[in-house]
Amino acid sequence: KRSLDEDEESLSKRKASDHSSEVADHYNRLQEVGLQVRSQSRIFYMRNFNNWVKSVLIGEILDQLRRSRTSPVRVLDLGCGKGGDLLKWRRGNISHLVCTDIAEVSVDQCRSRFEEMKKKSHNNDMFTAEFITADATKEPLWPRLADSTLTFDLCSCQFVVHYSFESRTKAEMMLKNACERLRPGGYFIGTTPDAYELMRRASLSQDLSFGNEVFKVRFKSRSPPSLFGAEYHFSLEGVVDVPEFMVYFPLMTRMLEKLGMRLILKSRFSEFFEEKVKDEQHRSLLQKMSALERLRKELYKCFYVTSVTFAFQGTLS
Ligand code: SAM
Repeated sequence: KRSLDEDEESLSKRKASDHSSEVADHYNRLQEVGLQVRSQSRIFYMRNFNNWVKSVLIGEILDQLRRSRTSPVRVLDLGCGKGGDLLKWRRGNISHLVCTDIAEVSVDQCRSRFEEMKKKSHNNDMFTAEFITADATKEPLWPRLADSTLTFDLCSCQFVVHYSFESRTKAEMMLKNACERLRPGGYFIGTTPDAYELMRRASLSQDLSFGNEVFKVRFKSRSPPSLFGAEYHFSLEGVVDVPEFMVYFPLMTRMLEKLGMRLILKSRFSEFFEEKVKDEQHRSLLQKMSALERLRKELYKCFYVTSVTFAFQGTLS
């Protein structure tokens, strides 16, 4: 009885806590390091690999959109960070981008990066953009837009959605923000840690943690994870050190179905890599970023193998 009461107590404490500001503070403190520093980092290969996964995913969805649409493509980058995907949007020839993130410093850096890109380009291949600092788990984003009736062809949410699974209310709001303004047949794509793999690896360890010299994942309790608020702590060399929440994928799929979205792709990073690397164009992009064999070795040691890519599409009518 006592331990049940204690469990109840810790659960309600957990429910009352809100990690949004901790997450925002963390990302705000992160320094933008130059390419030279980054290339010396032990996680250089992983960052390149993540970028490659995102490039392939974004590129393929934009191709599909171009095949089915004649109108210019508008994109919502939900949890844009410092604008690591700006170049991908430029290459993808989109017309308008809304970048939004909870961390104000990141949004400022994203805006500066965009302005720099615009200066260097001849303006004819540059999209227009707007930048919003907001907690996407707490409020609808639309009143903050220059045109509050704007709709999108694509919402991209890269390594972000798991932060919202702290509670049902938060996850519902984030997913609503992702999909509510999609035009018919629009896409919601992203990447997020794979809850199955996290649990598998943690359960195999004595102290509920796993990792290597680069990253560490730590669970606090052996009790069965709840659907929301299933917290673990993730640290990655010099880049991330924050509480995150497991995303039970069938649950997210159901929540998105309620919003009129249907699952069209779910692939572990390792599967995605093995499949896409067969394509000449994708392989040469990866080779430009990293030596393939070195990457293959690093890949299977690393945390990000435990992530998944996903894509959902809205109904066409
Ligand atoms: N999408 C970027 C990328 O792929 O490089 C950044 C990914 S970073 C791992 C996670 C981002 O999610 C951070 O920039 C963080 O501030 C943002 N984030 C976390 N919780 C958020 C929330 N509730 N609303 C909006 N952004 C959030």
